[in-house]
Amino acid sequence: MAATIASNLVAGEHLTGGAGDVRRNINPATGEPISDAPLSNTDAAERAVQAARSSYADWAATPVGDRVQPLFKYKQILESNIDSLAALIVAEHGKTTAEAIGSVRRGIDCIEFAAGAPALMMGRTLPQIAVSSSFCRTEDEGGVGIDSSVDRVPVGVCVGITPFNFPVMVPMWMWPMAVACGNTFVLKPSEKDPLSSIRATEMAHDAGIPKGVLNLVQGGPDVVNHLIKHDEVNAVSFVGSTGAGEYIYKTAAAHGKRVQCMCGAKNHSIIMPDANQGAAIEGVTGSAFGNTGQRCLAGSVVVCVGDSGDWLVPGLVEAAKKIKVAAGDTPGCGMGPLQDMESKDRVLGAIEKGVAEGATLALDGREHEMPSQGCFVGPTIFDHAKPGMYVVDEEIFGPVLTVVRADSLDHAVEMVNQSRYGNMSVIFTDSGNAARRFKSTVSAGMLGINVGVPAPMAAFPFSGWNQSFFGDLHANGEDGVRFFTRSKVTVARWL
Ligand code: NAD
Repeated sequence: MAATIASNLVAGEHLTGGAGDVRRNINPATGEPISDAPLSNTDAAERAVQAARSSYADWAATPVGDRVQPLFKYKQILESNIDSLAALIVAEHGKTTAEAIGSVRRGIDCIEFAAGAPALMMGRTLPQIAVSSSFCRTEDEGGVGIDSSVDRVPVGVCVGITPFNFPVMVPMWMWPMAVACGNTFVLKPSEKDPLSSIRATEMAHDAGIPKGVLNLVQGGPDVVNHLIKHDEVNAVSFVGSTGAGEYIYKTAAAHGKRVQCMCGAKNHSIIMPDANQGAAIEGVTGSAFGNTGQRCLAGSVVVCVGDSGDWLVPGLVEAAKKIKVAAGDTPGCGMGPLQDMESKDRVLGAIEKGVAEGATLALDGREHEMPSQGCFVGPTIFDHAKPGMYVVDEEIFGPVLTVVRADSLDHAVEMVNQSRYGNMSVIFTDSGNAARRFKSTVSAGMLGINVGVPAPMAAFPFSGWNQSFFGDLHANGEDGVRFFTRSKVTVARWL
């Protein structure tokens, strides 16, 4: 099968090619070529920034009520085409059809939220904040009233740099709110699965988002560097690994941009002895192995308090053994392949490290029943692991779950807080007191109580902490509105 050339969409025009290397992507379930993504086409990046810049003044001056109209249509277009878009995501990413559909639905939530921009970006006024008597009128004459107000206005040209694991949803954390607030946008999707981002962007243009307002450029680090250092770019939103995010945060900030970087993670699930056993087993299994572990919210470390490991680990092994590992569009499939061969090699390497470091391999995903071709690794569980081991401390981004043991809740929280990350942490317990202590002491920004994945909600910020986030304002919710707008304060007196 021939690979599709991943094009750029600059002011609606499909531009292909560009100098430099091309990344050949495969369908991870079959190994067949699916796309060729250009890596260093800085000419296209330059054209995309210029298109966004020249569209900015008109778009920012368009009434916000008019700016959000295409978002209503976009939601309808996505809903009508959700199956074909999900099929494309499955083909180039590997996740299951249900996961792909779910991810588009979560993206639609963000579009619905952004469509509320007329209310969300409203400013505030405080009349009569002071009285001035220094000019025409004296104080006896009543002085002159001074009013103060703050407007929320767009920032300018915004850039979004996104990862491979949610190629349609993550861009929707960014551009719908950005353009609803009057900005123009350049999206740089992952070079690993570019086709569904292109399709979703074409649909946005079909819905009436002006073509120069939303541009898409393919590429790798060369293109990212061009964008984040560009004089005409005002804001950068990034989602991806901690290494890339920290670099992008520092570089873009040094070039005067406002920046938010949502980064990597190693997330913990604390299991108390009093937890509802069925809910804990189901929640941890879904969190660790959903999306083949390729989620920044994957609960990849379980901290078993007291004797909870005695029932949890056998329950997890039994549940994981039953997961059907197959191509994502296979009926009944519970887990698809990893996204590429590099990921498969990395995950197999992590399993070998866990064994070499002395963790107990309670379930070996290399022996799971699964297709022999493609990028498959089955669900894997390590038990009796210790902090300091690779499988406890490092993000593996694959279906590898590590179990550690703790004497008490305090001990468990201490272990969680040793992590350099802080994207999310969850607790399973029947005790309100334990849940409350967990909530007040754990160092992470997204918490779950009897919930395996405290998923990002469009109306709330996605609040990673520590090295899971660089910046100030997070994505989504009120933080997203504030990130894509700036304050303009006016102090006025009429003489
Ligand atoms: P990645 O960091 O390799 O790539 C993300 C984006 O950054 C891509 O567009 C890529 O082209 C670009 N990039 C990569 N290296 C770069 C460099 N050195 N200089 C400039 N640009 C660079 O991440 P990935 O492998 O696509 O995605 C997986 C990672 O993303 C995981 O670490 C995961 O935890 C994280 N993630 C985080 C969140 C969150 O909200 N915190 C959400 C999804 C994924």
